[in-house]
Amino acid sequence: MITPSPDQFWMPFTANRQFKSDPRLLESAEGMYYTDTSGRQVLDGTAGLWCCNAGHGRREITEAVSRQIGKLDFAPTFQMGHPLPFELAERLSAIAPAGLNRVFFTNSGSESVDTALKIALAYHRANGQASRTRLIGREMGYHGVGFGGISVGGMINNRRAFGPLLPGVDHLPHTLDLQRNAFSMGLPEHGVEKAEELERLVALHGAENIAAVIVEPMSGSAGVILPPRGYLKRLREITRKHGILLIFDEVITGFGRVGEAFAAQRWGVTPDLLTCAKGLTNGSVPMGAVLVAEDLYETFMTGPESAIEFFHGYTYSGHPVACAAALATLDIYAQENLLQRAIELEGYWQEALASLQGLPNIIDVRTVGLVAGIQFAPHPEQIGKRGYEVFCQTFQNGALVRASGDTIALSPPLIIEKAQIDGLLERFTDAIKATA
Ligand code: PMP
Repeated sequence: MITPSPDQFWMPFTANRQFKSDPRLLESAEGMYYTDTSGRQVLDGTAGLWCCNAGHGRREITEAVSRQIGKLDFAPTFQMGHPLPFELAERLSAIAPAGLNRVFFTNSGSESVDTALKIALAYHRANGQASRTRLIGREMGYHGVGFGGISVGGMINNRRAFGPLLPGVDHLPHTLDLQRNAFSMGLPEHGVEKAEELERLVALHGAENIAAVIVEPMSGSAGVILPPRGYLKRLREITRKHGILLIFDEVITGFGRVGEAFAAQRWGVTPDLLTCAKGLTNGSVPMGAVLVAEDLYETFMTGPESAIEFFHGYTYSGHPVACAAALATLDIYAQENLLQRAIELEGYWQEALASLQGLPNIIDVRTVGLVAGIQFAPHPEQIGKRGYEVFCQTFQNGALVRASGDTIALSPPLIIEKAQIDGLLERFTDAIKATA
């Protein structure tokens, strides 16, 4: 085992001091497995971090990336371009919810979120409604770590150290309801009543001052919170009625996680803007995108003529190497039917997850598509301790799961086989028993 040596690398999202005494270092990956630096195989129960939907080490992506670096390694993004993002945007809009057929490229989920919020604000201004500046997020929402994303997000640890954040932001109540919905398996109930909270915010501030509502159709980072039945549809009705834009953050639900290309399609609700990243390149090269309704784009294009319609972008927007990775990834998804695979496996997955009910300390199991959230009663000493212990022990047992607080999230690559589902749950179950 290589011990991570001293102090130059400041690790993201990690308790650096604790990590160095008990390091977990991955060295290579193939198919459903990571190999760590001691040569141990670890079954990937999280698709990396909700990214590697087609599994690891895909040769087609490696070759496409390598070819592209040799051909065109970079192209500037000011008043200039190259053919690949045009091709990729066309391919993305072909699998996107109907009408979301304009695409703005970014390099991450966080950038996609901040870009979507900026498009929403600039759209209203271009549309003659400059007073629409307020943004509405949701408690427990996660929208990355940009200042826009943490302002509309609702997870305390992402916000508390960073000052007053964006002004003019409100939060809908979160939709987790353990009292009425624990162990619901599939979508829980009472969605319409929870979405009605939006009317309260509209009454408070006036629709003419509200630009957009942003939600994850299914929250991942907060510990897999599923949309209660009717919730998303009711949000859509209320936003449409009041001329407020609806943004779905599909950074983790995009690319087949819940059995369709996007959760919007699975639950039959089309937003005005949709953010994605992660699975877009199978996690191989950083890239994100915002899918935008055509009429929004047209508003920018028909406004007063200026040198640049929307003054926003990144040095690496539509980077040639990222585009090559994404095109190869979309080919794999299509050839192997991976965007539909979560639906095929959903019944088996649900039954396997149901077997966890009754294990020590579990207070809820939530599942849809190829996702699950298993929530534990917090340890009396410390919130989050139980989740962290189960995560560490499962890793010891040879499988990767993700802890957020005291909830463990499972989101395996979509190539997973039934026997591997059994293997994942066996390692996880042993860890739950060992740490109880
Ligand atoms: N939005 C959601 C819903 C996410 O789950 C994430 C990352 N887990 C992000 C945004 C941020 O993505 P990134 O880490 O690529 O910036």
